[in-house]
Amino acid sequence: MITIFSTIIKSFSQNSYNTMIDHLPFHRLSCSCGQKGCLIKHAYYKRFIKISGKLYELKILRLICKCCGKTESVLPSWIVPYSQILLKDIITVIQTYLKKLPFENIMINNLLIDESNIRYIIRQFNRHWRERLAVFKIPINHKFTTIMSFKKYNRQFMQIKSTSNILFNNTHIT
Ligand SMILES: [Zn+2]
Repeated sequence: MITIFSTIIKSFSQNSYNTMIDHLPFHRLSCSCGQKGCLIKHAYYKRFIKISGKLYELKILRLICKCCGKTESVLPSWIVPYSQILLKDIITVIQTYLKKLPFENIMINNLLIDESNIRYIIRQFNRHWRERLAVFKIPINHKFTTIMSFKKYNRQFMQIKSTSNILFNNTHIT
């Protein structure tokens, strides 16, 4: 998969996803086979994301590589692969946990996030990511945690499976 880094994270919707795709310089994208400029639009698949208390259906674009035939899905950086919970909500859960504050407001703000979701996020964070961040003193916020997680571990922050994920960063933030 390919993650498109975006600093515009106010709107989490199909529209903002489509706009992101429309502005994507396809010729600059690299496939996990190492080739650049070989990826073309292939198909869409559906994913459900929990946005502001609603289960939102997002159509995700899949690209195919003309060189190796592999397909790659295109994810925005506000998504964590295989998670229905937005990265910003995952980050809020972890920050709240680290500050030892109550989780009520998180559950009030997003009614689809319950105590078992929160326990799961904290368990995965402690098991897979706490140490990884500590080693490189990576702060927990949207911009730098994502960029540093890709730089040091070749995956999105809180991505658990080791599926190949390439960050495409078209911004000036590095
Ligand atoms: Zn390829």
